Amino acid sequence: MTEAVYEIRNLSVIRGENTLIDDISLEVASGEVTVILGPNGAGKSTLVGVMAGDIPPDRGTVRFRNREMREWSARDLARQRAVLPQSTFLQFAFRAEEVVAMGRSALPPASPQQEHEAITAAMTHTETAHLRERLFPQLSGGEQSRVSFARVLTQSTPVILLDEPTASLDLRHQHDVMTVARGIARDGGTVVAIVHDINLAFTYADRLVLMDEGRIAAVGTPWEVADQSVLQQTFGCPMVVMQHPYLNCPLVLSTSEIPL
Ligand code: ADP
Ligand code: MG
Repeated sequence: MTEAVYEIRNLSVIRGENTLIDDISLEVASGEVTVILGPNGAGKSTLVGVMAGDIPPDRGTVRFRNREMREWSARDLARQRAVLPQSTFLQFAFRAEEVVAMGRSALPPASPQQEHEAITAAMTHTETAHLRERLFPQLSGGEQSRVSFARVLTQSTPVILLDEPTASLDLRHQHDVMTVARGIARDGGTVVAIVHDINLAFTYADRLVLMDEGRIAAVGTPWEVADQSVLQQTFGCPMVVMQHPYLNCPLVLSTSEIPL
């Protein structure tokens, strides 16, 4: 049984002359992986920022778990949702393990043994346990990203918001992150992830939100969103949509060599 975790109505976010989010309405259900797709500057990170409670709406309403977002205290929100930001925020010389441990700061105090086990579980899940002692700024972009994902997992929140969690990962780790995300959703959690690789999105998303210029260009299952003309229009490049040879989802090829 799924429930609407987010109910977003007529949301707009405006900065000066620019409308970053333009009258968006959207529901996000628990038990699903919702992937947000769209070109650079479409408003994806802004939307996730609103869903995180970090960016207040200028117009419209955002209800999170049947309560207006602005009514949530920072502490309660921290126990409900974890956020993986697009860019790494840490330049200080923390060890990877300490970065993961920071994820647990909003949780009720646990014994050192429980803390250690939770951190180890999250690092094992993201294949970062061997990086525990390493200094975070000295890790590769992909390693930093996986440690940051471990920090999100260790918060044990029912909702996770991931802004480009696969951007700097090799192929296998991209699949690992999306598989973990899907597992969380199958256990009843709610996952919202911004992903650029359209085929990765089609493979793992239960629901897709295609954004363009602050609006929703398409929303639905992968097959519902895999409309060649809508995709071409949104991304501004030629696309061919076909049936995936092994999975029951669309496969998209894009190359400038295909005539538009
Ligand atoms: P995406 O994540 O889809 O690439 P963003 O949500 O980060 O896009 O940004 C959407 C648009 O809003 C971009 O054109 C960006 O430059 C602009 N933008 C983002 N934050 C601000 C801000 N604080 N003030 C003005 N413009 C902003
Ligand atoms: Mg972004």
